[in-house]
Amino acid sequence: MILIFLGPPGAGKGTQARRISEKYRIPQLSTGDMLRAAVASGSPIGQQAKTVMDAGHLVSDEIVAGIVAERIEQEDCASGFLLDGFPRTLAQAEMLDRILADQDRHIDVVLALNVDDKALIDRLKTRVKETLAAGKEVRSDDNVETFSKRLEVYQAQTAPLVPFYAQKGLLREIDGMQPIEAVAREIDDVLGHSGTAQ
Ligand code: ADP
Repeated sequence: MILIFLGPPGAGKGTQARRISEKYRIPQLSTGDMLRAAVASGSPIGQQAKTVMDAGHLVSDEIVAGIVAERIEQEDCASGFLLDGFPRTLAQAEMLDRILADQDRHIDVVLALNVDDKALIDRLKTRVKETLAAGKEVRSDDNVETFSKRLEVYQAQTAPLVPFYAQKGLLREIDGMQPIEAVAREIDDVLGHSGTAQ
């Protein structure tokens, strides 16, 4: 099963993706996590990515698609995987189609988590507070200013993927405004009915 999670920053993609990854035993590939690991390693790609990410902008399509292409060739992705945070632009979606076609594979379903902007900003503030309270380090792009930029970038560059995947008949919309458990149930329902969740 190849599954894509689509949704604005803070929509809950990571939370739901983790659960689905465990339930269906497929790896969760988060490009945000992969890029943060590259930043932490101090690699040339990481150094380049850090400035872009801290400004709330997108890392180049070629870099991100390259990272994903390499990752999905690994053995643990053989029976499927879940993409969280990729694709984020139409160019990335087209690159993904080509990468998968080369391997004779295809996307099974795209889950779009819908949450309104006001709720997203409130969630960000809560996430920052909870992270600080737990004595952990807050992500350097988790502040209201950069977050607003990330939302803007989402609307401009990523939201067009919703009609793109709808047209291919792959899109399933999920109400992300509900509590975590209710969102999880809705996703399970969709996967149960799409015939993809073996
Ligand atoms: P969010 O909570 O905003 O969804 P992520 O952890 O997915 O955060 O991503 C954090 C940052 O990493 C993004 O703002 C962007 O700079 C970069 N990034 C992640 N995925 C991609 C991608 N597919 N294309 C370009 N940049 C990306």
